[in-house]
Amino acid sequence: TAVRVDLDARAYELDRSHVFHSWSAQAALHPVVLAGGRGCRVWDHAGREYLDFASQMVNVNIGHQHPVVTAAIADQAARLATIGPATANLQRGEAAQRITALAPDGMDKVFFTNGGADANENAIRMARLHTGRDKVLSTYRSYHGNTGAAVVATGDWRRMPNEYARGHVHFFGPYLYRSEFWASSPEEESERALRHLERVVQCEGPSTIAAILLETVPGTAGILVPPPGYLAGVRAIADRYGIVLILDEVMCGFGRTGRWFAFDGYDVRPDLITFAKGVNSGYVPVGGVVISDAIARTFDDTVFPGGLTYSGHPLAAASIVAALDVMADEGIVAHAERIGRTALGPALAELAGDCPVIGEVRGEGVFWAVELVADRATREPVSAATMARVKSDLIARGYLPFLADNRIHVAPPCVVTEAEVAEGAAILRDVLTALSAEEIR
Ligand code: PLP
Repeated sequence: TAVRVDLDARAYELDRSHVFHSWSAQAALHPVVLAGGRGCRVWDHAGREYLDFASQMVNVNIGHQHPVVTAAIADQAARLATIGPATANLQRGEAAQRITALAPDGMDKVFFTNGGADANENAIRMARLHTGRDKVLSTYRSYHGNTGAAVVATGDWRRMPNEYARGHVHFFGPYLYRSEFWASSPEEESERALRHLERVVQCEGPSTIAAILLETVPGTAGILVPPPGYLAGVRAIADRYGIVLILDEVMCGFGRTGRWFAFDGYDVRPDLITFAKGVNSGYVPVGGVVISDAIARTFDDTVFPGGLTYSGHPLAAASIVAALDVMADEGIVAHAERIGRTALGPALAELAGDCPVIGEVRGEGVFWAVELVADRATREPVSAATMARVKSDLIARGYLPFLADNRIHVAPPCVVTEAEVAEGAAILRDVLTALSAEEIR
């Protein structure tokens, strides 16, 4: 054990000395050391375990270290570890076939990228070239990735110092709990949000707009499950004005909502789908764009000006094939739907009933947000200091959380069991009931 504890100390020391972290001031960071994992659990070298109720970056949908997927990666590494994108490769083709088989009819091609941001980057480029138009509409309260156009399309604080791309316009999507539209029902929120979007389209000039880019279920922004009719209404607006609809399924896709694609639950059909994360549970970095036949045809005889050294990397491709086959064979998507409906959703609802600091619980599948408020009547968010306390208390009790603003996003792997749901909910209860009146204010 002494040697293993030393490895934890060394991992921490090396990290703090040499690793520069994302989205952070570097001085005050205290990263958790992780050395191994299985299913919903991860552990450090000394064997201290954590329940991973964030699925890391909401991407480890099949859980950690699925042996079929790690074996597929090892097999491919032994056969051919890398190959350029201009070649044909069996695993790459199988991966593209698996993904298009899940997409709506008439979406038969995949462009592979390194992750979610460059998937959105390239989808935006396709939409602009296909339509000959420039502007891209996306919502405040969204996250689309950290590259040129993707980060400017993003609708949160990360967009602000990154105004280097052109033609990005933002609008408000539906969010009934904090409605921008004074709505009092989901139907009203949907109708008014659609009216707002159509007015933005008209005022920006429909003939200048290439694409509407939306997360089907906005994730990092708060797991904002769209109200009835909203996505179908956006599709109708896009059709009315000849605008390409890009649905960003990077976080909500591949089982997270209890469906293969989140949009499978709605009467909507995108022109482009961007994906990453859950497609292979992040075992190898990968993302991509699923392309409609109409947009693909634009590039039949015209060069698509975009590419990446690692587009369709064979290790990524092999991991996609194995991960999607495992998800189908083991019924993992259906499990995510069932556990959300019968265990995780009810456990969080019960927690909300007992903890006045919870203002709202919303979500589906293994994709839930718990909003913490100082006052249920005004819905005022709890302070950043309170969220920092919640974070350190959860980690101290062996629960790895995903926190954003005043919310705990409860997003365990799709394979989470009832016992693990009960364990996670009990830790949340301990931490939330321990907050003092002072901290809640
Ligand atoms: N789109 C959405 C909805 C995301 O949640 C993310 C990442 O969290 C991205 C895009 C960016 O993906 P990546 O970090 O792989 O570039």
